Amino acid sequence: MKKKQFKSESKRLLDLMINSIYTHKEIFLRELISNASDAIDKLCFIALTDDKLGMTRSDFKINIFSDKDARTLTITDNGIGMDREDLENNLGTIASSGSYKFKQELEEKSDDIDIIGQFGVGFYSAFMVAKSITVNTRKYGSETGFCWQSSGADGYTIEELEKENIGTEIILELKDNTEDESYDEFLDEYRIQSLVKKYSDYIRYPIIMEMHKSRVKEETKDSDKPEYEQYTEQETLNSMVPIWQRPKKDVKQEEYDNFYRDKFMAADKPIRTIVTSVEGVVTYKALLFIPSATPYDYYTKEYKKGLQLYSSGVLITENCEELVPEHFRFVKGIVDSADLSLNISREMLQHDRHLLTIASNLEKKIKNELASMLKNKREDYEKFFSAFGRQLKYGIVSDFGMHKDELVDLLMFYSSTEKKPVTLSEYVERMKDDQKFIYFATGESAAAIDALPQTELLRSKGFEILYCTEDADEFTLQTLMMYKEKRFCSATNDDLGIENDEKPEEEKDSSALLTFVKETLGDKVSEVVASKKLVSHPVCLTAKGGISFEMEKYFNAVQPDSGMKAQRVLELNLSHPAVQKMEALIQTDIDKARKYAEVLHAQAVLIAGLPLDNPSEYTDIICELI
Ligand code: ADP
Repeated sequence: MKKKQFKSESKRLLDLMINSIYTHKEIFLRELISNASDAIDKLCFIALTDDKLGMTRSDFKINIFSDKDARTLTITDNGIGMDREDLENNLGTIASSGSYKFKQELEEKSDDIDIIGQFGVGFYSAFMVAKSITVNTRKYGSETGFCWQSSGADGYTIEELEKENIGTEIILELKDNTEDESYDEFLDEYRIQSLVKKYSDYIRYPIIMEMHKSRVKEETKDSDKPEYEQYTEQETLNSMVPIWQRPKKDVKQEEYDNFYRDKFMAADKPIRTIVTSVEGVVTYKALLFIPSATPYDYYTKEYKKGLQLYSSGVLITENCEELVPEHFRFVKGIVDSADLSLNISREMLQHDRHLLTIASNLEKKIKNELASMLKNKREDYEKFFSAFGRQLKYGIVSDFGMHKDELVDLLMFYSSTEKKPVTLSEYVERMKDDQKFIYFATGESAAAIDALPQTELLRSKGFEILYCTEDADEFTLQTLMMYKEKRFCSATNDDLGIENDEKPEEEKDSSALLTFVKETLGDKVSEVVASKKLVSHPVCLTAKGGISFEMEKYFNAVQPDSGMKAQRVLELNLSHPAVQKMEALIQTDIDKARKYAEVLHAQAVLIAGLPLDNPSEYTDIICELI
């Protein structure tokens, strides 16, 4: 029979699995059991509405057989099964979500196979231990069964097959032992038992294995030389109680962590696990996880927010979006409520009153958990914030600032005086008596902001400055406008509300100088003023009106023809020697004075992190002056 080829991505993945240097080969069992459990979930759901199936929940199970002689390990389930098309689509190609990304990641870190879970390529992991795999399966609603077979990268075959029952049987022919590796451990019943306990204990269907045991023969029990006999016994290896139904005190954090990783294909450990059980108008249990790391696809449209929704232990929907607000979309978890109808459709779910109540309770829970982490476990919170702070900021900006009161106290910004992230509340508590505003400065990095001449005066006065280094930062503060009745003030754009008192207002009339510079620069600036901010630098550029330089840069990056331009104001430090020299030159050598004006302007542009319109003109002038 002609062998079919795997899709190219799958082939590379297979290659990786076959030649795996991954130390946790054992996880293949977890992957196969999870697949079996998912398949049963699907049929179990159908069984609720299809009486003809004649199955009830207690009929569903997963079986494991180990055959030491044939060196095979078999995993069977009586779940939904697969037909020819499913086999082609599911086992002939890796899960299409993430597959593109997978390819890229593969290039970068080919020895890090935690990708197994992340990309939904679970089935293939069996090739880490098996030299060939046979899948005998029959789908619900189908008369014929199919046999899928593959020995790895050279392709697979599919044949029709007589199969009595609906469900799937997966037979792994284990790899031969080598000098370095023994695969026999995966035939050892006690080893299998411990793996099931470790990874799949919460699976809600019994995982049954025929265990070979020995015991003293009854009739020789009392003799001096007791004889032993072999016997087999069916044992259920897992405890089955869904982890969220077990009292929190009985569950180890490690078990929650494993559940989280397994269920949500995550590579990290949750930074917080929230367990809640509510009885009342609506009764439900929820198990939520706050991840510690940003999933690779988090800020892409591939990422799906939502919680898994169960009704009395049966999965209703994989991703119930209504259960988490957009600003907490990083939260993963499950909700189980007996109050929800099983046959509820997606449209109905959106309007379900119970569901809305649960969602609003969970939102409060998450918020409180984050607030308590911030208060009591600062280090954890900072880690969380570096992973998802941007999401919280988006949350403030979105929906016309509707959620800002809820989220504002969860924000953090890097502080110029503390040299670490601080909250707005901490900032306000530290504010000086004569300080009117909450100051912030925007730039590419903390180092770039440190170098801004505009922040000099604030710094010399000992005022704290919050650094906005992410694109969402400045928008966030603009949306907030105030915090505890203190207005936000941009160090680079606004009137700082302070005078530089070491430098009394110039007595001398400087209007001639300012007009000269404005005339020289023309449209390049909208205004030239005497600075109250500058201390040791000769010039700086500030933005006037609603558009800041950061916004200009941001919009021009995302939409180059947006034409977004901040109104530029050139501030001159009238007591700086360079500016005084220029002023003197107006009388003696006006051409040179003009060149001075151009150079000083160009410097201000560069310091603001903006591009020069005409760099060569600038360098030419410098050369002439030299
Ligand atoms: P994932 O489970 O992450 O989708 P897998 O590679 O493990 O990725 O499986 C691919 C698909 O093959 C599954 O989504 C499922 O549709 C199908 N499948 C795998 N194992 C079984 C099984 N035991 N019964 C029915 N379908 C299965």
